[in-house]
Amino acid sequence: MKIIAMEVGVIGTNCYLVINEEKRTGVVIDPGGDADHILEKIRQKEITIEAIFLTHGHSDHIMAVDEVREATGAKVYISEADADMLTKASSNLSIYMGAGSEFKAADKFLVDGDIITAAGLKFQVLATPGHTKGGVCLLCKDTIFCGDTIFSESIGRTDLPGGSYSQILHSIKTKILVLPDELKLLPGHGPATTIGWERRRNPFLQ
Ligand SMILES: [Zn+2]
Repeated sequence: MKIIAMEVGVIGTNCYLVINEEKRTGVVIDPGGDADHILEKIRQKEITIEAIFLTHGHSDHIMAVDEVREATGAKVYISEADADMLTKASSNLSIYMGAGSEFKAADKFLVDGDIITAAGLKFQVLATPGHTKGGVCLLCKDTIFCGDTIFSESIGRTDLPGGSYSQILHSIKTKILVLPDELKLLPGHGPATTIGWERRRNPFLQ
């Protein structure tokens, strides 16, 4: 498994390309903008994209979803609780970023505990509400794609609609901190970290 991180969109969201090098397939996580850049990287790597996973429905994580879906033919996955954020500009907050953006509905839902096989890789869905109602993390091998649930020494904001401070802490403690220290965390913004580092250093978790 090879992971390529790309910072995309107006507020620098991490979009991840997860590649199965043997099969020359991959998935895209959070195509938050700069569709041309994401698609160019996919072409360069000569891979077929088999799924597009959305950790949650905020506009900075989904702005390029329709272009990437159209160009690759891949199915789009989001949790049911965040599904209307794709199709309603008022829900995905894009109206506050200058332009109301609405997208086609998702093809499939991410359900807590499900293991989805895509590009020959297994992704386990961890429901982690708190930043949004339907926020999820995706566990693949030794890596968790954690969206805006947890960041290096910080956590996702909880003051937006659907956010809850007590819920995000509960999600982190019951879904992430129960996993081994050495697992990598690849967040929706900022640098990568590990569970062990956050267990010791994250000021919100002490
Ligand atoms: Zn967000």
